[in-house]
Amino acid sequence: MISFEMSSHQQQVKDVVHWFAENEMRPISMEADKMGRVPDDWLEKINQLGIQLSTSSFDGGEQKSEKKEKKRKSERQGNRLAVIASEELGWGDPAIALTLPGPGLGGPPVQSSGTPEQKERFLSIFSKDEPPRWGAYALTEPDAGSDVSGIRTTAKKVEGGYVLNGQKIFITNGARASWVVVFATVDRSLGRAGHRAFVVEKGTPGFRCTRLARKMGIRASETAELLFEDCFVPEENLLGGEAYYESRGSGPSGFQVAMKTFDNTRPIVASMAIGIARAAYEYTLDWVRREYPRHGRFYHRASEVLANAELDIEAARLLTWEAAWKADIGQPNAKEAAMCKAYSGKIALDVCAKCLELLGPAGLENHILEKLYRDAKIFDIFEGTNQIQHLVTARQLYEPHGVRV
Ligand SMILES: Cc1cc2nc3c(=O)[nH]c(=O)nc-3n(C[C@H](O)[C@H](O)[C@H](O)COP(=O)(O)OP(=O)(O)OC[C@H]3O[C@@H](n4cnc5c(N)ncnc54)[C@H](O)[C@@H]3O)c2cc1C
Repeated sequence: MISFEMSSHQQQVKDVVHWFAENEMRPISMEADKMGRVPDDWLEKINQLGIQLSTSSFDGGEQKSEKKEKKRKSERQGNRLAVIASEELGWGDPAIALTLPGPGLGGPPVQSSGTPEQKERFLSIFSKDEPPRWGAYALTEPDAGSDVSGIRTTAKKVEGGYVLNGQKIFITNGARASWVVVFATVDRSLGRAGHRAFVVEKGTPGFRCTRLARKMGIRASETAELLFEDCFVPEENLLGGEAYYESRGSGPSGFQVAMKTFDNTRPIVASMAIGIARAAYEYTLDWVRREYPRHGRFYHRASEVLANAELDIEAARLLTWEAAWKADIGQPNAKEAAMCKAYSGKIALDVCAKCLELLGPAGLENHILEKLYRDAKIFDIFEGTNQIQHLVTARQLYEPHGVRV
């Protein structure tokens, strides 16, 4: 039986997050974009309200309790609630959404691959009773973005831990994070099988931020370059512990930690893109209704643009909800996660461009549409570019039949 209706709990989450987006995010959105940062006092206030960016926060802190871990798969709805909330946050302001305190992209690998002690140690620090804190996820390097198997950051085994050397670029919240999940290789000749994930804590000697990027869009979101120079990381910070990797023999386990993260986070990123598209669409629909008497000759063009936008947004949302639902019930969702990410990133750009076109010069200066257009672009790039999502989808079509692409 298929239902397209939200449960009352899901609707409640949507309403609360929408209220937050409209009343807390939108009022600071344009200024934060201009300043290139989210004000600290705003972040502190939001943290005290207990608002964080993490999938688990929507499922009652599922990672913290063994009892809840065993909750029947059919009852889990953390991913569905996360995509519902994420769309509203994207509607409010995607850069501010990415800056909300919490483990962020670093959360899913710790939840999926961390030992019980690591989950407790690294995830329990995010509390409204503590100052705002962030986690981050560092995979991308100057020579390894789409092709993550090519990472060059090394992890050399030494007494009591590992020594990391290398550089990571474009890391969201990388400078402000209390800890960063860092992917490194213990042996490049092993390819993906040599990958390991480490939790590197802020203040660890040999670990520093070297630069913050200035970007076209999501300017208020921090994007950091990180450097690791003879950085000693204790073995307790190897995600999953030694046993996790040994149990997988020579399989590509560290690589799997990275990829598994994407299956959870791509639908969340996709829904943020849908929120951007919806923001542009709603603004323009309102504008056309208001301005139509003065701009009557554009009516047919406007109707075409708005009807297409409605269709694109609805289609993207259904794809995304399916990917999140599959993640909740524990079914493989790599194909759906890739498809919804590819489609939502594309339609966000299309819808913003078309809406901007309708408004003409009126939407170009210090205007929400101009900002949405700039913000939309990154959703076609991070968490895997559009082309890479197509590649992931194609692999799912061919590989079960023994064909490698
Ligand atoms: C604002 C921002 C925030 C980010 N946050 C994070 C973060 O928190 N953590 C993190 O680890 N990374 C992060 N990233 C990095 C992001 O995920 C990468 O930029 C992205 O995966 C693309 O990698 P690349 O930059 O190396 O581009 P490249 O891989 O060099 O791609 C360049 C172009 O080539 C195309 N291409 C590459 N390979 C193929 C192929 N096999 N087939 C077809 N086309 C191909 C790509 O689609 C793209 O169009 C962030 C990036 C940005 C800009």
